[in-house]
Amino acid sequence: MHVDVPAKVQEIYAEVLRRNPGEAEFHQAVREVLESLAVVLGRHSEYAEMKTIERICEPERQIIFRVPWQDDHGQVQINRGFRVEFNSALGPYKGGLRFHPSVNLGIVKFLGFEQIFKNALTGMPIGGGKGGSDFDPKNRSDAEVMRFCQSFMTELYRHLGEYTDVPAGDIGVGAREIGYLFGQYKRITNRYESGVITGKGLGWGGALVRREATGYGAAFFADAMMHARGESFEGRRVVISGSGNVAVYGIEKVHELGGVVVACSDSSGYVVDEKGIDLEILKQVKETERGRISEYADRVASAHYISQGSIWDVPCEVAMPSATQNELDGRDARTLARNGCQYVVEGANMPATPDAVSLFRASGIGFAPGKAANAGGVATSALEMQQNASRDRWSFEQSEAKLEEIMRGIHARCHETAEEYGSPGDLVLGANVAGFLQVAEAVHAHGLI
Ligand code: NDP
Repeated sequence: MHVDVPAKVQEIYAEVLRRNPGEAEFHQAVREVLESLAVVLGRHSEYAEMKTIERICEPERQIIFRVPWQDDHGQVQINRGFRVEFNSALGPYKGGLRFHPSVNLGIVKFLGFEQIFKNALTGMPIGGGKGGSDFDPKNRSDAEVMRFCQSFMTELYRHLGEYTDVPAGDIGVGAREIGYLFGQYKRITNRYESGVITGKGLGWGGALVRREATGYGAAFFADAMMHARGESFEGRRVVISGSGNVAVYGIEKVHELGGVVVACSDSSGYVVDEKGIDLEILKQVKETERGRISEYADRVASAHYISQGSIWDVPCEVAMPSATQNELDGRDARTLARNGCQYVVEGANMPATPDAVSLFRASGIGFAPGKAANAGGVATSALEMQQNASRDRWSFEQSEAKLEEIMRGIHARCHETAEEYGSPGDLVLGANVAGFLQVAEAVHAHGLI
């Protein structure tokens, strides 16, 4: 069968737009993958014939539900819950839950779509899914967060299971929320099913290194990119946006690898500390006290806080956006390039806008897409599931060594696939093509379902 590749790609994208109106982030994520897949369609006409890409762009199941709960003043609150079970070709749906006021169906779908390819790249038997709610845990008491989580799980539990769908954390969902969610699941089902959720506490089925995994993994990935160019982190200035789970442990590992992280942020502003971020104080402010990043500057003499402008104005050689989607735009990309940035590694999901990514790719700046660079979190979640299934518990060193091996393996796979498909060094293309080919093969093997 002859395939007019550009026309086919256009046709698939037009149908995604028509069927999913108003879901800008989902459109953006699909478009980036489709652009990479043109080279695959050129070599594999069977994927056009069997509408493999069209099938992967359509979630297997989308669940939207009401989440009623009562706040500390006795007021009734209503939020909306989501779970998009995107693709189960490689294993049970796997992907985090995000609690943030910006959450809507389009955002959950973009995250779920990315998750399919990310999970494939890890080489672990996990499909792709994502969920969340427009609930904002900020400034809520523990009791409110608990009541919300219990109400959320009272609907979601019926869709979950260790062989069906296995959520984890994401923005706004950390160890506290995972605890409340698991507790309610156990209570409703009367089953201690450890493998139904990951990111659990260490005393009740959690795995060592899961907390650190996404940030550590992104740093290992960056290190692998540098090694491929005969370089290293040693003495390099690094900027990492965000100060949540990914950012904090990204900073920790970059420091261990010899880099110096001089700035980090939250949604209100950023701090610059030329001596290098003091991790102990950062953890105290953000993890223990759940405070604002400005409080770091109040406590550290060498630091100052900036509430306006962009963290990407801070000169650096390595940028690791690790807060949220579309946080680094074309203007920021130009500033980074002008200031001599050589590597951009996405710790967050889709933090760089399409024009920023184009600029990095065109200017020879080493660019790692989130679906490859931040896959360490979900890979370690799969290791948690493995330990739960075998009722085993691995040491920190063993788990970290496994994470490092997985991240270096993902880098090698993206690098080799980019070469094989005629775009050496293009890790966006490498990640999209390698992830797609693995999913597509399984989709074919399962017949038309
Ligand atoms: P956290 O909730 O722990 O931290 C998020 C951080 O980003 C906070 O500092 C937050 O600041 C900041 N942030 C959130 N929204 C915005 C915004 N709109 N503008 C500016 N800053 C913002 O989340 P994680 O660290 O877990 O997640 C960060 C990113 O990494 C997300 O894209 C997530 O999808 C991705 N990711 C996470 C994984 C994980 O294992 N946790 C795995 C793979 C990807 P504030 O407190 O002010 O809101």
